[in-house]
Amino acid sequence: MEIKPKYTSLSHVQTDLRDGKYTMESLVQHYLDQAELHAGLNAFIEIWNDEALEAARSLDEKIKKTPEQLGKLAGMVLSIKDNICYKNHRVSAASKILQGFEAPYSATAVERLLAADAILIGRTNCDQFGMGSSNENSIYGPVKNALDTERVPGGSSGGAAVSVQIDACLAAIGSDTGGSVRQPAAFCGLYGLKPSYGRISRHGLLAYGSSFDQIGFIGRNPTDLALLMQIASGPDAYDSTAIQQPLSYLQEEPSATKRIAYLAPIAKHPSLDPEIKRIQEETLQKLRDAGHSLVEADFDLLEFVVPTYYVLTTAEASANLSRYDGIRYGYRSPQAQNLEQTYLLSRSEGFSEEVKRRILLGTFVLSSGYYDAYYAQAQKVRRLIRDRLLAIFEEADLILIPVSTQAAWKFGEKNQDPTSMYLSDVFTVLANLAGLPALAFPAGTHSENHMPIGMQFMAAPGEELMMS
Ligand code: GLN
Repeated sequence: MEIKPKYTSLSHVQTDLRDGKYTMESLVQHYLDQAELHAGLNAFIEIWNDEALEAARSLDEKIKKTPEQLGKLAGMVLSIKDNICYKNHRVSAASKILQGFEAPYSATAVERLLAADAILIGRTNCDQFGMGSSNENSIYGPVKNALDTERVPGGSSGGAAVSVQIDACLAAIGSDTGGSVRQPAAFCGLYGLKPSYGRISRHGLLAYGSSFDQIGFIGRNPTDLALLMQIASGPDAYDSTAIQQPLSYLQEEPSATKRIAYLAPIAKHPSLDPEIKRIQEETLQKLRDAGHSLVEADFDLLEFVVPTYYVLTTAEASANLSRYDGIRYGYRSPQAQNLEQTYLLSRSEGFSEEVKRRILLGTFVLSSGYYDAYYAQAQKVRRLIRDRLLAIFEEADLILIPVSTQAAWKFGEKNQDPTSMYLSDVFTVLANLAGLPALAFPAGTHSENHMPIGMQFMAAPGEELMMS
């Protein structure tokens, strides 16, 4: 079902608030009603009704009394993915091991967004610890795509995408380790922005693969997403990988013609749905018609992309998730009789099958006998992939590629076969392997299943505004 949103841009909300056509309280009430109406889609784990209404009322006061003090995000209602900390609120990464855990502090990004007068409406469902591409891997059950409830919303930020799709908020805060913002955005017909690695502090984002993870946003237009990124970005004493140079300000007018590269081997990719190929060709044609120049680029490393990503992210995940030991956080198995059993049973019972699969794989590739063969090798291939992509940016401003090999698939279609799920990530993980910013946008509709199809632009590191 297509849900018509009340607003499609923050600037429109702000005009109406200023002109007194709407109050923040009634807007938040509208979003809360929508969330309730579509509760069956399972996008939210928790909704903060009273707090959101309270925040809306104080914003209405501010609009009346001190409008000059309004933040840039006044009028922006956001959902937050269940792997990002919001002080004194629960955060569980959709896992049993963190069930009941309350964040003792807010993520830096969250603090900055709130300081600019954004309102948080609730936390959204996702794949456990961000591991998955279909949102079927959550202790809270799967999230359904509002356009076709037999189909997945994408993952891991599936709840985030659906929260926007059902008009329960204007935009969503998500995270993208290998496509988790862009792929659900594409599956749900929305925009998704993954900034350059380090653009937004990772402080307060539950770590999955630390050299890949990046907070990103899902919304209805790229301008809103760029603004959210600008406000959340900047150096942070809590994250030494955060980019020091500030992001230059958005130009009002998108700059003139660009050189847009496309990767020749993609059209021949064996698991690419021909419909995606068709939409890519149509998008390229539209870009050509709009005066941009197209550059055909060769990229012969496509077959190494998914294995490299999964060797490195599982290695990093196995280290990052070792902190969940049944002692320091969350769940502790009631069966455990001694220390060893506490570790063993708490982790065995507290993590899902998929998370355990990845911890095992990551521990294996890091083990002394196999470290050189897998982990060290994958690091080298990652560098090659990055160098090859950076070389393309010598001749082009942007690279255009599809978001996924397919449009949203049906529940159960891939979750019995993890490899086929992993392979569908080939186009999104590229940006994370190389630290590039990428913007997914709706580009067409599948002619048989009528689901949306997204394409994405990738830019050189630090050049996200090139995509505006
Ligand atoms: N689907 C990818 C994975 O399972 C990406 C997930 C993400 O970006 N968090 O690793």
